Amino acid sequence: MATRCTKLTEKLSRVFIVVLLVSSCIAFITGCGVTTGVSTPSQGNALISSQPMQNGEEKLRVSYIDVGQGDSILIQIPNGKNVLIDAGENDQGDKVVSYIRSQGVKRLDLTIWTHPHSDHIGGADAVTKAFDIGQIVMPKQTSSTQSFRSLLTAISQKGLKITEAKAGLKLDLGSEVKAEMLAPNSTQYEEVNDYSAVLRLTYGQTAFLFTGDAQSESEQEMMNAGYDLRADVLKVGHHGSRTSTSAAFLARVQPEYAVISVGNDNDYGHPTVNTLTRLQKAGVSLYRTDESGTVVAESDGKNITFTVGRTSQ
Ligand SMILES: [Zn+2]
Repeated sequence: MATRCTKLTEKLSRVFIVVLLVSSCIAFITGCGVTTGVSTPSQGNALISSQPMQNGEEKLRVSYIDVGQGDSILIQIPNGKNVLIDAGENDQGDKVVSYIRSQGVKRLDLTIWTHPHSDHIGGADAVTKAFDIGQIVMPKQTSSTQSFRSLLTAISQKGLKITEAKAGLKLDLGSEVKAEMLAPNSTQYEEVNDYSAVLRLTYGQTAFLFTGDAQSESEQEMMNAGYDLRADVLKVGHHGSRTSTSAAFLARVQPEYAVISVGNDNDYGHPTVNTLTRLQKAGVSLYRTDESGTVVAESDGKNITFTVGRTSQ
């Protein structure tokens, strides 16, 4: 059932680096700040913050950056904090850095590298070098690829540490938002994609779900764990592959909007007809980076608006 998308990288990642390459940077902080609690559905929506915004902007802005076949998502929180999830392939690194700079962002308070496939972490070394970085979160899963080695080197050279991504990890991004990791729920997977860090972020009454390339096994675990999965905007898992976005998962998320980050005319047949049909049946409004370029969603805490526009290539 493995898709061609991950064929090469999964072959490579079978050869895990047991002896960690850069020992100083790979000191995963497994206990510090990590909780394993499960949120109940009643905790779904955060209260609208009464605190004044610190940057004059009162909207949460989420940019699904057009990086071709891959993922890169910038989240700008009204309190001035910024989060980046993934950075596309290696040749997209400069573009991701330029986009972040174009938004006036100088510091990334949190970077999440969902899993060690090159279409997610290829540009991560460039991002790590270019910005002041706060926290780095990534799953405890290694790869023998050059992209992964370059990322570890960049992290090491800046003296940064890595927090292990795992379900239940709550991330402190200020009182305006609630950010919790819902996956991975296990430490052993057949599919590297299932190690994907999955983040649910709420702002006011609105919620966003960022799924990386999590496939149906991880989706099932999230459902079994009883997490509140509801989200207004779903970042569709694994570029719209048929192995993600199961009907049952979609029924739990109940998204109004979905975004597929995918390359135009890609070699993998993403997104698949099965996934598109499931989204259509669920009545979801769909945005695709291959059709629209970078997709920007803005939330005022109650309503979400979308802006699309192809960025310069
Ligand atoms: Zn991917």
